[in-house]
Amino acid sequence: MPEAEKTTPKAEDIKPIIEVNRLSVTYFMGRTNEVKALQDVSLKIYPGEFIIFFGPSGCGKSTLLYSIAGLETHTHGDIIVDGKNVAKMKKNEVAEFRQKKTGMIFQAFYLINSLSVVKNVVLPQIAIQAERITRMAKAKKLLEHFGVSTQADKLPSELSGGQQQRVAICRALMNDPQIVLADEPVGNLDSKSSRDVMELIGELNTDQHKTIILVTHDPSHLNLAHRVFYMKDGKIVDIKVNNAITAAAEQGWGAKEAPSVSKELELLIRTYSGIAPGQLGGLLIPFKAKQVVAEVLTGMSAEELNKIEKQVQQMMLSSLEDKERLVSFLDRPASEGGIELDKRTALKLGEKIERVLEEIRVLQKEEKEQKEGKVRGVDKQASEARSYLLETFNADLHDQKQVQAMDKALVQRLTNKIDKDQLSFLLHQPLPAGPDLDRRIARKMAKHFELLMLGKFSG
Ligand code: ADP
Repeated sequence: MPEAEKTTPKAEDIKPIIEVNRLSVTYFMGRTNEVKALQDVSLKIYPGEFIIFFGPSGCGKSTLLYSIAGLETHTHGDIIVDGKNVAKMKKNEVAEFRQKKTGMIFQAFYLINSLSVVKNVVLPQIAIQAERITRMAKAKKLLEHFGVSTQADKLPSELSGGQQQRVAICRALMNDPQIVLADEPVGNLDSKSSRDVMELIGELNTDQHKTIILVTHDPSHLNLAHRVFYMKDGKIVDIKVNNAITAAAEQGWGAKEAPSVSKELELLIRTYSGIAPGQLGGLLIPFKAKQVVAEVLTGMSAEELNKIEKQVQQMMLSSLEDKERLVSFLDRPASEGGIELDKRTALKLGEKIERVLEEIRVLQKEEKEQKEGKVRGVDKQASEARSYLLETFNADLHDQKQVQAMDKALVQRLTNKIDKDQLSFLLHQPLPAGPDLDRRIARKMAKHFELLMLGKFSG
């Protein structure tokens, strides 16, 4: 499926964690009741992806999932997980692979009813012979995290379906697997528990960066995944990309929006979507580093840069087009409160800043109009930004389809569906995914667009 692989975020830089090559699974081979459960299936899944196998009952979703888990023996082809070919492993190697690399969640939970909840959770570690105290502590921590710690000593049958599935999730995570495989995990749950459990699975991906493969026939789950593999009659017939930040991530963001976050940092998070408040401390370091680098590169002191920043801030607040004032400020002697740049540099810098500010104002105006219901804001913002970016970076598009693809990519960034890197990736993609811009230009545009987004939000 080369088409779909191309559209995976950063696929070019990252090695797949799962690679299935020409996999076929046939039951009752050669008999009259022969079933071709999978036919010549190939796919690649990248670390940290949330993938859904979707299709009608009997199309081969579970067979594919169990093959990846090393649970299927009727296979023909290669299943490479984290560099090792599961299809060619010996039995004991498969068992070890499953224990260490994968965690499984099933529709029917498969908890052992004669064991307490906490003992069910520690089971995977008994197999790898972890110390009792360590494994009990870990199990309790997981139960706590998933809101079922008070049920630790009960039997699974005493728990609701939703609680049992939370326990099963704890069990799946006990050995810290990189990959979580879930087979219709909410098929037995009521709608409220389903939503809760699906949200937890989403968080395993967004917060713990687990690679998730979920088998479902419920279309309402589709927007949770980065990519959906549509299956029919034992084949993957289509792959749709949800372009990164999923509904789950957005829900997660809503939940994480703590009031303690300062206004400025809040703006940063909104712009650099996907960064949790817990990571904000780390966020400041690159910003400080940026200051240092700016000073080295521009030859201006932090103080001078601060002064320019203040001037720009005033211009942003007053929404005045005041290039003359900016240039004269940049040119003026320090004793008169200026920066004392030479005239030409002042003019050039002034023009550049003014041009960015002007673009930000346009985007802000369109956003305002959108809020007032006057225009289709995001689309207009995108087309405006597209012309601006093409002009600024002196890039040309050759046909209308490229224009549309570029606008589509910008809309996704404007609505925080993708981040800067994914925008850069998309802008470089060939049609239909992207406008096929030169890789370096795409990267520069994405970076510059980020600046516009930041400016837009500060208005
Ligand atoms: P799905 O998960 O999409 O519902 P499955 O992967 O379970 O589909 O099944 C694919 C096909 O393989 C179906 O026709 C099913 O009846 C058949 N199948 C699955 N497992 C077995 C098995 N162990 N023995 C024989 N046939 C099987």
